[in-house]
Amino acid sequence: MTQRLITFLFVLALPFALLGQTPGVCGFYSDKAFDENIQTLKQEVAEGVLSTRGNTVTYVPVKFHIISKADGSKGVSEQVVMDALCHLNEEYLDQDIQFYIYNGFKYIKNDIAYNNPGDAELILQGNKVQKALNIFLGLNATPPGGGIPGGTTLGYFAGQPNQDWIIIKNSEVNGSASTIPHEVGHYFNLDHPFNGWDCTAWTAAEHGNPVGFLNAPCNPEIPVEFANGSNCETAGDFLCDTPADYNLGYLDDNDCLYTGDCMDPNGDKLDPMEENYMGYFNGCSQYVFTPQQKQIIAARLIQRTNLETVTTPQASVEGGTTLIQPADGSTTQAYNNVAFEWTAVPGANQYMLEIDLSTGFNVAPIRQIVWGNYKVIQGLAANKKYYWRVRPFNNFDVCAPISNRWSFTTGTAINTVEPPYVTNWMVRPNPVSPGQSLQLEMNTNESFEATVTLRTLSGQLVQTMQTNFAAGNSTIEIPTTSLVNGLYFLTVQSGEGILNEKVVVAE
Ligand SMILES: [Zn+2]
Repeated sequence: MTQRLITFLFVLALPFALLGQTPGVCGFYSDKAFDENIQTLKQEVAEGVLSTRGNTVTYVPVKFHIISKADGSKGVSEQVVMDALCHLNEEYLDQDIQFYIYNGFKYIKNDIAYNNPGDAELILQGNKVQKALNIFLGLNATPPGGGIPGGTTLGYFAGQPNQDWIIIKNSEVNGSASTIPHEVGHYFNLDHPFNGWDCTAWTAAEHGNPVGFLNAPCNPEIPVEFANGSNCETAGDFLCDTPADYNLGYLDDNDCLYTGDCMDPNGDKLDPMEENYMGYFNGCSQYVFTPQQKQIIAARLIQRTNLETVTTPQASVEGGTTLIQPADGSTTQAYNNVAFEWTAVPGANQYMLEIDLSTGFNVAPIRQIVWGNYKVIQGLAANKKYYWRVRPFNNFDVCAPISNRWSFTTGTAINTVEPPYVTNWMVRPNPVSPGQSLQLEMNTNESFEATVTLRTLSGQLVQTMQTNFAAGNSTIEIPTTSLVNGLYFLTVQSGEGILNEKVVVAE
């Protein structure tokens, strides 16, 4: 009863003690199999497994799953994912490990998965890619069971064999957060240095000073690690170059310096390694992995034979691109087909094109990965000021800068250039009676993707469909059941041009 009361008070007291600041935490908890594998990996390292790697850099495939709401909104941008991947690669470069985008980004549109990926286990299972490290990006990263009381979980590695993925909170996807490099550490079998204290944080009031017990409070199978290192092989994270830590970073201030007086059961004062990547201390200018942690990572990488690792990357992207058209400050004549062009960059085979009404590219951005340096974009509104920018990349190098931001204003005209491959087309019957289907007959030299729309005279959209016209002759049906008598505009819009026809609906 007393024990329960103390726990209750501790949970209640945390938010006040932190004056409203919610500390960010990791939602990973190791289990027996995970901890046993650390001993296996240490054994393999001792037997020389790492000598097989040589001096080459290993490129590890990563599948980033960008999760948005069901309507496609709110997912993180590819730009910040690239920033995060670039940062991850900086942090693992000294280990000769780099990460590359495995077959592009994956997009998941689902409200539950967006809100908290861990609540949509089956969706994650269905999207997981076997040959890559899977990282799911959503609004929250709350693990099943909640995580440490009073903390906000920023990410976690789900280590069950049928999971084996990382979940990251969207706010942590950027070019500076340490969350992704930390979770990747777990993916490569690293524990927290305070393993066994993951569910709590040492306080003199709750745990005693010196600590008054010998088994870790969150996992009684793990001994409390001593400050003198005498049980480091079997306690804490089972590594001897990471000193004892009883989750001291969790309640510490953000200066990357522990000044508390926590003592182990022997009465020896703890001296935790604040700048360790796998700990919880905030405010360090640079985080590091210890030599033994790096050995575990390297050995686990060798053990992970499912990964489609490569040792020969694509050439680096040689800098940023320069925008060409639409010219900065210009007004385009038409709004329905606007051509974008920028300089090609050696090494880049893809370009992230972003267009939006806001300078922050966060209102209703059009984001498109373009394989080339020219693209005709449809779907812009007439008479609006837009901003655009471009970032060159390839799957192995996402660190090139984003271009300058240019603006242009769309005109009010409709571009009437016909797609060059269309040899003939026809809509019939015309006039058509309401309820009767329109037949759109197409004759084209090449197959093409197009949007077919029907609008009223005043421009109101009444019918839209996405169609692929095969090369040769083909016919599609357009239902008119919902139409009243009147005049309509039918358009067939492809990337290269547009076809227009007036259609009369009459009894
Ligand atoms: Zn962690």
